Amino acid sequence: MSTSRKRPYPLAGRTEATPPTVITFADTELTIGGEGVTIIAGPCSVESYEMLSETAQGVRASGASLLRGGAFKPRTSPYTFSGLGVDALEMLATVRAETGLPVVTEVIDTRLVDTVAMYADVLQIGARNMHNYALLSEVGRLRKPVLLKRGFAATIAETIMAAEHIMTQGNMQVIICERGIRSFDTATRNLFDVAAIPVLKQETHLPVFVDPSHAAGRTDIVAALSNAAIAAGADGLIIEVHPRPPEALSDADQSLSLAEFDALMRGLRPFVQAAGRHLVMPAPAPRPTQADPVS
Ligand code: PEP
Ligand code: MN
Repeated sequence: MSTSRKRPYPLAGRTEATPPTVITFADTELTIGGEGVTIIAGPCSVESYEMLSETAQGVRASGASLLRGGAFKPRTSPYTFSGLGVDALEMLATVRAETGLPVVTEVIDTRLVDTVAMYADVLQIGARNMHNYALLSEVGRLRKPVLLKRGFAATIAETIMAAEHIMTQGNMQVIICERGIRSFDTATRNLFDVAAIPVLKQETHLPVFVDPSHAAGRTDIVAALSNAAIAAGADGLIIEVHPRPPEALSDADQSLSLAEFDALMRGLRPFVQAAGRHLVMPAPAPRPTQADPVS
């Protein structure tokens, strides 16, 4: 991909003159893209209000500024937990109100886009749906950020073209997420394509995120992949965290405990600094909503 030729994705493509896309959230200083590094963390799936609230408070204290949690899960096996659906969306909204963390959740079906958009601050398009052009168009009609995961076997150009599908519908707030691609090696769940980060940064003005959890598929290397992602220029990370990982109903093997996530965040800071960036702080937690005491 030479930087001089005309790119086939006029909306997502970067020219020398294009400033980086910076996504903002109403009434907060929170940003995605630009100078800052933004961390999204939370469980693979929302399993209950209690576990979501516990996770959100924990990851926020360690420096995450958005909460992830799947409500509708695209599962390889139809016999495994596929999410709590709208109940999970309600839990995400409740925990957002408690913590002030905007929520990121996946939409897997065009029929559910409006429902998910009522709750989500950022809509995730998963790796399995990167080529679902009807779904890309539907989220393109929204005016909310979309976190677009790279497909298992998608080239970088195909991934940017999927972002272009969203953008042609008028939604310019797209975050591209490298989450590993299929390889022959079974030592990791996927092959973390670290080269995709600088290539995406050269090719597009969109924020580039990394999901080290789905790349690794195992907890012991998530921190190393996170550090590598930041060193290579990623604008942020999305990381799976569970208060009791062995009990997780999905992706237990790759879910960090709250203590492991805290250690990851401590280890990440020098890499953020070395990259000439800063960590984007979580928005202040809302004040408790109790009525003022009557005097
Ligand atoms: C997820 O984020 O839980 C997920 C299913 O990710 P991916 O689409 O990258 O597999
Ligand atoms: Mn997962």
